[in-house]
Amino acid sequence: MVEIQILEKTDEFMRFVVRGVNTPFVNALRRIMLTQVPTMAIDEIVILENSSILNDEILAHRMGFIPLKTDLDSYVLPEECKCESELGCNLCRANLTLEAEAEDKTRTVYSGELKPENPDIAPVSDKIPIVKLAPEQRLNLEAYARLGRGEKHAKWQPVSMCTYVYLPNVKIAQNCDACGKCVKVCPEAIFVKTAEGIKTQNELECTLCMDCVDACPKDPKAVEISWEEKAYIFKIESTGALPTERIVLEAVKILDKKINDFSDQLKKGKQK
Ligand SMILES: [Zn+2]
Repeated sequence: MVEIQILEKTDEFMRFVVRGVNTPFVNALRRIMLTQVPTMAIDEIVILENSSILNDEILAHRMGFIPLKTDLDSYVLPEECKCESELGCNLCRANLTLEAEAEDKTRTVYSGELKPENPDIAPVSDKIPIVKLAPEQRLNLEAYARLGRGEKHAKWQPVSMCTYVYLPNVKIAQNCDACGKCVKVCPEAIFVKTAEGIKTQNELECTLCMDCVDACPKDPKAVEISWEEKAYIFKIESTGALPTERIVLEAVKILDKKINDFSDQLKKGKQK
């Protein structure tokens, strides 16, 4: 039985404990989130004018990494679009334009100056610096955003962090004399010295570094660190392209589809 306990959840960050699964399963989910869940990113730019210090290629590279809000329900991947056109159509491409000029003072052009044709496909933040313009330098360009997957280029990854760790189990044994060595050494401040002896707090933050066990002068050790079998803490940080929950749900959908395709092909497969 899979059991999920959500510890924190916002559109940008999510942390949950999952029990009843094994490492290959959580790792499959992690890798699908990193490489398979599509997001929108600028894929091509047409430069009409660029007198800035950055050459066109570097400018295109920088703009590709600006996270864009993604609408997975209205857009399709270019390779799956019926238009089959290299340029793309309204279903597989979103346009943005950028026109900027420095008049008499040097200034920075920010992502907020990108004007999206569809307001649903806009930069996640309007404070990402693109380029600095010196007086009289100009920038005028059209950018085409497309859905893509992280396996092709990191700019399409929906997550800026996606990790899992074992669920830690911290125990203080009877023979503890509250010397406080573990309190000093723990980088996550899990131990606190109280009048009643050593107590633990925020145990989920334990990184299993074992410094407390090494520092404990008792024999046998008065502090015991272990981890639960088949239980993990998953942490996901979104780039802002998609809400964290949607990223997980999309990953599950993709895994499900792959398994179904596999079983269909197996049933159809001819014996040689
Ligand atoms: Zn199309």
